[in-house]
Amino acid sequence: MPADPVPVLQKLFGFPDFRGVQRQVVDRVLAGQSTLAVMPTGAGKSLTYQLPATMLDGTCIVVSPLIALMHDQLRAAEAVGIRAATLTSVDENKAETRGRFLDGALDLLYVAPERASTADFRDLLDRGRVALFAIDEAHCVSEWGHDFRPDYRLLRPLLDRYEDVPRLALTATADEHTRADILEQLGIGTDGMIVAGFDRPNIRYSISTRDNTTRQIADLIRETPGPGIVYAQTRAGTEKLAEALRTATGRPVRAYHAGLDPEVRRRNQAKFVESEDMVIVATVAFGMGIDKPDVRFVAHAGLPKSIEAYYQETGRAGRDGDPSVAHLFWGAEDFARARQRIAEVDPQRQPGERARLNALGALVETAGCRRRILLAHFGEDPPAQCGNCDNCLSPPAAIDATETARKYLSA
Ligand code: ADP
Ligand code: MG
Repeated sequence: MPADPVPVLQKLFGFPDFRGVQRQVVDRVLAGQSTLAVMPTGAGKSLTYQLPATMLDGTCIVVSPLIALMHDQLRAAEAVGIRAATLTSVDENKAETRGRFLDGALDLLYVAPERASTADFRDLLDRGRVALFAIDEAHCVSEWGHDFRPDYRLLRPLLDRYEDVPRLALTATADEHTRADILEQLGIGTDGMIVAGFDRPNIRYSISTRDNTTRQIADLIRETPGPGIVYAQTRAGTEKLAEALRTATGRPVRAYHAGLDPEVRRRNQAKFVESEDMVIVATVAFGMGIDKPDVRFVAHAGLPKSIEAYYQETGRAGRDGDPSVAHLFWGAEDFARARQRIAEVDPQRQPGERARLNALGALVETAGCRRRILLAHFGEDPPAQCGNCDNCLSPPAAIDATETARKYLSA
């Protein structure tokens, strides 16, 4: 019988209890059962492999798509006393790390998928002891997912080589189709899936057609005290909109995008994290890895990339549980542009992209509950009315947007 993980949770991580489905996932992992855990961002996915890694005999190999992400995780793990290392192109102590693995002195070893699939890495694993494979951001393995990484496809032979080692796939963003694909691609049984609740009841969802972006978002800012994020489509757009909103509202408003001077970017982000009333106008790159619990609103000046992206971006509001607002402003031209973009991608990927756009269309054009559509997308079956979205609060008589959207979605 596996040992009790609760004392480890309390002693090592300092948390009194597991959250949500964490316990279920940890129990499966400790029992050696391969699992796909679908849990929203911030739900605490890392702990579901970090904790077992400290209890199991051998090392947990963590596959993660981004070096920056790995190094953040490494710091966090080491901070609580977990024996961890990364093996990436920028690490200079690779020989030492290999040695630690072979000595059984590592709980966690983070690698990128392209390294994990090399013969070198396989030989290393053959000579040591592997307790668990954790595959983070597992939706990257699926062409249906919104962030397909061909390197993830190369993992399977490695996983199959160690048949007795359980696999734990983790993702925050997988619709039904993508989930089925992850299970199949990574060889996890269909009974091995655990899905956490996706509802964020304190977020009020509103979606409107755009007539005057600056005026509409300025109104939202005036109505909503507290820090906020406005997502714009382009780098130039963020700067222009930031300027216009600053003038219109008198609130501190700053731009954030990858093209800014790194020093300015860092300063704007640091100011935002501390601020109680600042608005940041950003491209979608903003928000990953920042942990600001009191964001009161997230506005979209245009259509997001997918429902998953929308959920993730709006999910940065109200992490503290207090009432928060997510307001999306869209125009028919957003769909036209998206359709154009789809026409240019690899033909094999077009059906998936089209399905994603159609799902967004259904969300923006519905006269029914927004939350219901969002949650249904993540496989949940919530009540018909949430009572905390624009359509539930003031049911639309008849939306003329419906026809517009349909026109751009058809064919
Ligand atoms: P995810 O990968 O699901 O987005 P993380 O693993 O980064 O989430 O965890 C998000 C935050 O939640 C971290 O700050 C983590 O320390 C915290 N956390 C995880 N599990 C618990 C728990 N059981 N109780 C309290 N906080 C937790
Ligand atoms: Mg994570």
